[in-house]
Amino acid sequence: MKRLTAALLCALLLLAACGAKEQPEQSASAPTETAQQTPDASETSAEPEQPGTPAEPEPTESAAAPTGDPYDAVKNYWKPEQLTQAWGPDQVVEHLFFHPIIAYPKYAFYESGASQSQRYGLDDWMVTVDEYNKILQSVYDKGYILVAMEDVWSEYTNENGEQRMQRNTLMLPEGKKPLVISFDDVNYYPYMLEEGFTSKLVVGDDGEIWAACTDPYTGEEFLTQELDATPILDRFVYEHPDFSLNGAKAIFSLTGYYGILGYRTQDDRDIAKDSPDRPAFEQYRAAEIEAVKPVIARLKETGWTFGSHTWGHIRLASKPLQTVINDTERWADEVGSLVGPTTILFYPHGGRPDGDDWKKTGPIFQYLQSQGFRVFASVGTSSFSYIKPDICAVICDRLHPDGTTLRGGSDGRTLGWYMQFYDARDIIDLDVRPPLGVTW
Ligand SMILES: [Zn+2]
Repeated sequence: MKRLTAALLCALLLLAACGAKEQPEQSASAPTETAQQTPDASETSAEPEQPGTPAEPEPTESAAAPTGDPYDAVKNYWKPEQLTQAWGPDQVVEHLFFHPIIAYPKYAFYESGASQSQRYGLDDWMVTVDEYNKILQSVYDKGYILVAMEDVWSEYTNENGEQRMQRNTLMLPEGKKPLVISFDDVNYYPYMLEEGFTSKLVVGDDGEIWAACTDPYTGEEFLTQELDATPILDRFVYEHPDFSLNGAKAIFSLTGYYGILGYRTQDDRDIAKDSPDRPAFEQYRAAEIEAVKPVIARLKETGWTFGSHTWGHIRLASKPLQTVINDTERWADEVGSLVGPTTILFYPHGGRPDGDDWKKTGPIFQYLQSQGFRVFASVGTSSFSYIKPDICAVICDRLHPDGTTLRGGSDGRTLGWYMQFYDARDIIDLDVRPPLGVTW
């Protein structure tokens, strides 16, 4: 019962978070949740196969022997001499972002224990597996090619000896248009386990990324590559290697308050250093950290990258500087220590620091920049970007395929904004979504 309460609390916090209404505070680890994080939590025993050494074929003497990692064929698909189209600094690099996708839509929208407002939150901010598959197919068919967000901008020294950002010229195959994809909140928050989502990423016996999933109807636990955004994109790129430039996939935007990628790697500061519960908690946390390492390694090896979404999903527009400092240090300590440093920050709720990072560079923005962030991504109606003239940083917006935009927004206009990627009328699954209507 205690765990259920904690899960519900978390669901409320997270839906508020992504629904851009309220924010989950750093006290997301409220005392009631301690029980959920102790070693007896069922999620440890639910761990699927032990990630092992990727099953690489033995080298043979045949000259035509495969080179081992199938991803090499993706990474090396485009030859340098084929990259003859210069995509200059004035040409837009489009950017789409997704929240975790809904594996069991009927369950999520109608049958889970979630409240109506929670279900409507899922409808607003997420897409289903089928919709996601159709969106990937459509952007591919329309000539987009995945590029690494890290390759879009770079630092240079201007004539005054100052470091500033610049948009790079991307070299693409003829006829292709660059696309960045980011995935927000790839943390597998506990509420998702209750509402028809997958529960963590793992490395399968084949060395590839799989998602662990529990069938909400039968309780059966299994691994899948068909119900989670990450392995679906991996497979799509294997099937369409021309969709990826130099093996690029997407970038994860990670918080830290429930660990990362489905592993509860976060510290719990409610357990005092001298608490009798500390040793067991430390042991549990260390095991989660060890378990996530091969997942991070395989993701990095296969074109995935990582950015910060702040540790506590905090609202940067209204937080005091000291809160931002504490949060940033905690992200670096608990998340950056695992995934490596990043120059990319994805604003929770899309909220811009100091009220507005576009016209001014306030103290919070300056602090974040001083901590190594160079690309500050919000959410908007286009893939807008702006290189700041007074500091080495760029701000940019991302488009958001989800229920709000698939339904046409408040006045039907999002249909047109997304038409270059897909026709929402062909994508939205009105048979399974709640009857909330469309505006197109
Ligand atoms: Zn978020």
